[in-house]
Parts: sequence; structure tokens; C-alpha cells
Amino acid sequence: MTQSNIVMQEKALTSAEEEPPSAAISETEEPPSSKSTIGSENRKRFFGHVTEGNWKDWRWHFRNRITTIDELSKFIPLSGKEQSRLKLVATKYPFAVTPHYLTLINVDDPNDPIRKQAIPSFDEIGLVGMGQEDPLEEARDSLVPGLVQRYPDRALMVLTDICPMFCRHCTRKREWKNGGWVRKAAEIETMLDEIRRRKIIRDVIISGGDPLTLSTHRLEEVISKLRQIEHVEIIRIGTRFPVVLPQRIDDELCAMLSKYGPIWLNTHFNHPNEITPESAAACDKLLRSGIPVNNQSVLLRGVNDSVDTQMKLCQGLLKTKVRPYYLFQADEVQGTEHLRTTVEAGLKIIEGMRGYTSGIAIPTYVVDLPGGGGKVPLQPEYLISQTGDTLTFRNYQGRIFHYREPKLIGQSPPKNGQRNGRKTRSVLTQLMLFTEEEKVRDENRAVVRS
Ligand code: SF4
Repeated sequence: MTQSNIVMQEKALTSAEEEPPSAAISETEEPPSSKSTIGSENRKRFFGHVTEGNWKDWRWHFRNRITTIDELSKFIPLSGKEQSRLKLVATKYPFAVTPHYLTLINVDDPNDPIRKQAIPSFDEIGLVGMGQEDPLEEARDSLVPGLVQRYPDRALMVLTDICPMFCRHCTRKREWKNGGWVRKAAEIETMLDEIRRRKIIRDVIISGGDPLTLSTHRLEEVISKLRQIEHVEIIRIGTRFPVVLPQRIDDELCAMLSKYGPIWLNTHFNHPNEITPESAAACDKLLRSGIPVNNQSVLLRGVNDSVDTQMKLCQGLLKTKVRPYYLFQADEVQGTEHLRTTVEAGLKIIEGMRGYTSGIAIPTYVVDLPGGGGKVPLQPEYLISQTGDTLTFRNYQGRIFHYREPKLIGQSPPKNGQRNGRKTRSVLTQLMLFTEEEKVRDENRAVVRS
């Protein structure tokens, strides 16, 4: 996306809006949050002149996104060489960061984990040839433009490709150069007709881009019509607004969503420093409106690829009453190689958490298979062998335990190394691939990215 695309985005947004939002975030009770004071310090330092009313107005943040390297260099020290290189990166992969998210960056630390998610890196174009533009082959399975059905009972509605921020690890960064569109009313009606016709669809995911870039009124037009379709049982929304522009979660939006439940919201926190009083208040507001909030993070090198960071993130989310749902292995996306980790690193993180914190704080670690293969859950191996009807496990401390299988009346006992005619190794492989917490089904992958 070029600078003119960014201007187009803002025009598209403006034309979609009727009035500025009230954006009245309740601060009557202090939400749980990280102890970091960077946000408030940077707000005073860089945005001290901005009125409280504007700071609480999500449209103000959207209009004042930082989208050029020249602007960025007023906030973050960048050498002349860095500026030239980042300008080059931005011609291929543009950037936009909201004032709210910018304040979370420690501007003096080039390795700051928030910075790595928002600010371009020369590695995006330096590691050319690594990865694919569309590794998950999303550009297929469309029933009509904007409506994707990859699995029988679910459908994905893509209402816009506009996002409040361009996350550097985004699986859809290939789209940025074409960005700035919102589906027209007639296109949305065609999508709805298709859903009405396909009675098997019981779960509709509204995603993007980020669907909350639409005005509340416009969003309601879609959600209210979906809710009138009898076979649509649940509606899900994928959005990163609670993290990068939490002011969007205002009273008006929550009041609207609360009329059309059950609605579930999936968001995308990647680091504990993103859990701020504002983002926690946004999640709290959604929950009080009857909207359960789940989190889907991406494992990113130098951002959250340690047990300590994941522990703080997931425990912080629970304090915010948000469920850590998925931890994604980063996809093989062109322009993101520098942020990817190995699967081994992910497994070690899950192993380092299991047993040391509540099970509810441990997300399901998944790889979204290239070529549209769907999500595969991964976890460390705890079942280490089987002899006859005895299974041998190790626990989180490495201690060994034996478990006897039940006697199955009327069936021959398994031979050593075999179970139900299948070799032990096959059983182990299956157990590795399917988590004990939940069997992750092959949901439409687009749900999982906001
Ligand atoms: S789709 Fe999600 S990950 Fe990609 S830029 Fe938008 S908010 Fe970020």
C-alpha cells in the first residue's frame, strides 16, 4: 500500500462514519494491567498537547496515525541511514501506527518488543526470497467476493481490508499494497444471501482487515441481518482494536453488540506491555456487555519467544479476564522471516509453562499448515512408552509415572508395543498432535488473525 492508499483508507473510514463516537471509557475502577509506565510517560512526552477528549476518541487516533518515516523520526531516534532504509521498506510494506500503540514503545530501545511489531525493519526486504506471499492459500474457497467457506458449518465475512495498524508479522501483508476498501452494501447483501441459502452455516466470523474500522452503525446493519438468519447460531469478530486502539471499544459499540449475542470476540495481544489500563478497560467493557474475549497471539522472535514473557502475557490476560486461546507458530510469510521462531522453541515454551501455572493460562500452540492444511495443535510429549496395557508418562518435573489402561471386556489384550492393531509409535504421534485440553478443529484459519 502506498501513501495514497493510506489516504484512501482514511477517506473510506471517514465516509463510513456518521458521527464521532462518544468513546467514554469508564475509569471508575482500575483494571488490572502491566506495571509499565512507558505509556503514560510517552503520552505526556509526545502527546501532552492532545486533549483528553481527543485521546479518548478512536477516530482521532485513526486520523493521526503515524504513516511516514519522516513523522516517525520525530518520535523514535533514527539515523539518516536508517531513515533511508526504512523508506525503502515502506515502499513495499507501508506502515501505520496509532498514537496509543506508539506510546507503548520504549523509543530508546531498538529491540523493544512493541517496536518490533509496529515499526518496519530492513530485514523485511533484506531477507528476500524467504517465505511466500500467501502461504495459507487464502485466495481460494470464496463463495462470493468477501465470503469464504472452507469448512461445512462456518463462513468468514471479510468486510474491509483496513486495519488500525500494520503489524509487521501480518500474514496478509501482501494485501497492504491494494488496501483501503470497504465492501459495498450490495456486496454485503450478496454475502448474506449466500449465508441464508446455506443452512448448514451455524457460525459466521466477521473479520478483515479489521471489521471494527467500520462505524458502529454500519457494523450493526450487518450483524442485525446475520442475527435474523435462523441457522446462524454464533457470530465471531476478529479484531486487534482492543490492543492497538482500545478507545474503539466504546459504550456505543458495546451497547450495539450486546443486542445480538451470542457474539464472541477474538483479539490479538502478543506481549504483556500491550496490557494497559486502556486495553484492559476495553476488554472489561466487552465482557460486561456479554461478549467473551479470547486471545490469539503469534509467537515472534524477540517479542514473546520466552517462557517468562509468555507467562507474564498469559497471566496478565487472565487478570484482564481474557482467555489465552491460541499461540500461533508464525506463518511462512514473505517479509516476516526475521520474526519467525522454530517449532522447537514454541514447544519448549509450552513445556516451560505446563505445571508451573494454571492450565487455563496455557494457550493451545498451533501451526497453521501451508497450503490451506488447517491448524495442527502441538504439545510436548509426555507419554513416553507403552508396554501391554501400561503407559509410561513423564510429568512436568520429569518424574516417571505408570498408568494402567482398563481391561476391555470382550477384546483381546494389546500385544507389547501395539494397541488396537496400531504400533505404539502411531499412538504416540497421535497423542502429540492432539492436545489434552481441547481438540482443535480445522477452523477457517482466517478467524485466527484479526
Ligand atoms: S490483519 Fe491483524 S495482524 Fe494483520 S495488520 Fe491487521 S490487525 Fe495486524
